[in-house]
Formats: sequence, C-alpha cells, structure tokens
Amino acid sequence: MASASSPKLSAPLEQGGPPSAVRVRFCPSPTGNPHVGLVRTALFNWAFARHHQGTLVFRIEDTDAARDSEESYNQLLDAMRWLGFDWDEGPEVGGPHAPYRQSQRMDIYRDVARKLLDGGYAYHCYCSQEELDTRREAARAAGRPSGYDGHCRDLSAEQVEQYQAQGREPIVRFRMPDEAITFTDLVRGELTFTPENVPDYGIVRANGAPLYTLVNPVDDALMEITHVLRGEDLLSSTPRQIALYKALIELGVAQRVPEFGHLPYVMGEGNKKLSKRDPQSSLNLYREQGFLPEGLLNYLSLLGWSLSADQDIFTIEEMVRAFDISDVNPNPARFDLKKCEAINGDHIRMLDVKEFAERCRPWLKAPFAPWAPEDFDEAKWQAIAPHAQTRLKVLSEITANVDFLFLPEPVEDEASWAKAMKEGSDALLRTAREKLQAADWSSAESLKEAVLAAGEAHGLKLGKAQAPVRVAVTGRTVGLPLFESLEILGKDKTLARIDAALAKLTA
Ligand code: GLU
Ligand code: ZN
Repeated sequence: MASASSPKLSAPLEQGGPPSAVRVRFCPSPTGNPHVGLVRTALFNWAFARHHQGTLVFRIEDTDAARDSEESYNQLLDAMRWLGFDWDEGPEVGGPHAPYRQSQRMDIYRDVARKLLDGGYAYHCYCSQEELDTRREAARAAGRPSGYDGHCRDLSAEQVEQYQAQGREPIVRFRMPDEAITFTDLVRGELTFTPENVPDYGIVRANGAPLYTLVNPVDDALMEITHVLRGEDLLSSTPRQIALYKALIELGVAQRVPEFGHLPYVMGEGNKKLSKRDPQSSLNLYREQGFLPEGLLNYLSLLGWSLSADQDIFTIEEMVRAFDISDVNPNPARFDLKKCEAINGDHIRMLDVKEFAERCRPWLKAPFAPWAPEDFDEAKWQAIAPHAQTRLKVLSEITANVDFLFLPEPVEDEASWAKAMKEGSDALLRTAREKLQAADWSSAESLKEAVLAAGEAHGLKLGKAQAPVRVAVTGRTVGLPLFESLEILGKDKTLARIDAALAKLTA
C-alpha cells in the first residue's frame, strides 16, 4: 500500500520546496445543483486525503458573481454533509488559510496580479474582442495556430499611450514561456504541451475581476496544495498553471508546483459526455430516489477506479484503505444507472435492519406516502421492514411496497387487476377465502398452505393461485412476500379485501 512517502507520490515534478504532507483540495464553483461529476471529484480527493492521512481543503470558487449563488453554496455544503465527507479546512471549520471563499480573497488576487505585472510575468492586453476574432480567423485561414498571437506582449510606451487615449480598458494577460511544458500526470503519465498550443491567457478582466486562471492556482499555491486531482476537462489549463506557478515561485508567492492527476471523463447516455445539465447527473435526483450515500459513493468510485477485478461492492473504509491515484484508469468511464442501482441495493442489504427502517422514514411520509399520517402503524412497519430490505434497489421503492398496509383500501391498479383476474378467479378467491378463514394467522406458513390448498382445488399451482389473492389484497401483481404480507395486514382486513374483490368480480 502506498504511503505519504511512497515513490509514486514523490515522483519528481519540478517541485521547488521541501516535501510536505499531502494536501488536496475540493474547490467547486457554487453554480447550479450539485452533480455526480462533482461528487466523483470530491470522493477521489477525500479518499486520497484520508488514505494518506493528509489534509482536505474545501474551497469555494465563487468569483463569478453572475453565475454563483448562495443557494447553490448551501446545497454544496448540504451535499457534502449528506455524502458523509468531512474536510479539515474550509467553510464552517476554518483553518490557517482562511477565508476559504474566493469572493472574500479579492485583495490577495489583486496583489498577486500586481506582482506578476511588475515582474514582467504578465502584461496589459488592449486588444478588443473584435480584433482578437479577426486575427484568429485570419490565422485559422492561413493554417497557423489560432490562439492569442502575442500582439500586446511588448508594446512600446507610445502604443500604450495611444490605446489609453482611445479609452481602451486592458485585461491582464499571462506571458507563457516560449518553451514546451512537460509534466507527469498521476493518471496519464508524461504529457508535453508545446508553446503554440498554450498561448498567453487572460488572468484579470478589464473590469478588474480576477479569472479562474489566476485565482485557482494562486489559492492552490497559498494553501500549499500538494496534489491537484480534478476532471480531465481541466487538463488544458494545467500547462498554464504550471507556468504561472514558476512565476509565483520566483516571486516568492508559491513554494512548489503541485502534482496533477486528471480523472477520466464520465460518459452518459449514447456515449456522450455526461453534462451537468443531464437530469441523470443531478445529485438531488439520487437523493430523492433514495440512493444511500454509501451506495452512490461505491458506484461513483468505479468511474475510473476499482478495488479489485472481482469485487464491485465495498465500503468507503475499504476504498480509503486501498485508494491509490496511480490506479485510476485514464479511459472514459461509462455511467451505468442499472449498475448504480444494483450496487445501491447491495448496500441496502448491508444495513442493520433497524438502520434500514430508519433510513426509509422520509418515504413513509408526505409528500411521498399517499396514506394519512394517522393510518401509519409503527408495529406493522417494523414487521414488514425486514422483508422489504431484501428487495429494494432504492429506498423510494418502499412506499409502493407497503402502501397496502396503511391505505384503507388497496391501490387501484387496472393493469394488475387485468393481469391477475382471469376466468375462474372468483371461484379460486372464494375457496382461498374459506381456507384462509380457517388458517392459523400466527404463521405465514399456514397462510401459504391455505392458498396452496385453494389452488389445488382448482387445478392451479401456487404461483397462479396466489396472483388473484395478491391483487385483491395489495392491488398489485408484484410486491413483498405475500404470506408474510397477509400475516402483517391481519385476518380481518385480508378477508374484507378478498370480499371486496369478489364483489367487484361478480358485479
Ligand atoms: N472551480 C473549478 C471547477 O469547479 C475548479 C477546477 C479545479 O479543480 O481546478 O471547475
Ligand atoms: Zn492584446
């Protein structure tokens, strides 16, 4: 097992400073609802930090006032708590590098931008969007690289004066070194980016607002982050950030360049990249459907990682023990809802039955439950819970599985009725009623014998004989084990429902 001092983790990567303990960060922007991609990133960082007994920094990247919202911030925190993640530094817990919300760190970024300008690592760029677009088109047409062309890199004093006289407001642009940048990605191995593919880039808007390109690496530097683990979509920003780091080290702002590991893309339906906007990627949806955090995390860990070839189901503790970033697979991972549900079902089975009964509570109440609160019966719930636990994939399925216990009448499901009630079902039900009337109601086995005997009397196997009974009593063709269900519902209600079904059949 790798440890903080394992060779893998201290692989040389232009590290300037002394080796320090593992410090990773999870740094989402509070826009929109939390999504599964975000959760996967949080999970891998958290597991990495815990595996190495390092520090997880939770930072909020809320420098985009137009897109960030307080609601989204609160949802993020709520999601992290629900998933069971803890963090060592960040919102609500504080830490030596506070504040951990970038919107409260603007002075820091202004100061660093100033230093970069003064040191010649960055410059003012006066190009208008229109000019940039025109030149980009021309470059493209001529088959040249179409990124920023360095137009304002070395403006003369007169040119600057002229631009200023024209009332142009400059952005701050970082000067990329004219040499290739090579680094060893912890997931992808050695990668090289050539200068024509990484042009000079903006770090501060014309209105003075610092961009992600600046604030993210500046904070990683100041917060002494040792490993940046994030999605593959951010890979192209890594050479820029490494160059910026070098400048920051020379300016005395940063101590070292962190190591980088880029987690694979997650593919959704139709082999397209799962996007934040896909309904399938909304964390809230999974919560509402009753995924367990442990089931969801187990599944999400498989998006790029595995514990072993023959073990899909494991606890978060097992993951933490085994997690090694160098085992992450660089190839795109496919999000498979069926598998996610199956794994969740296994985690439902792993719960203590009391715990299971408690976790189902939200779905035993409004707005999910259709019965009146006073019709809920705790003893019946405790009796049926173990039978439900062996069958659910997600907790929300509990409502339809137990509604026959708490609704005054079984739900009316026409399709189930049509499927179960055949020619002769009334005769079968009449016999079943007689036998059930005489059965021992303290034993599900005795109830089964009764229905079995009724079936035999009509030349039906148990499966065929129990279908009309099930629909008469529960309203549905599928559900929890029938005879236990009848026993828990009780003799009077069961017989009354069979009577009601017979009345409906003969009407
Ligand atoms: N705030 C950035 C995002 O949510 C963080 C990216 C990074 O990890 O560097 O995309
Ligand atoms: Zn320019």
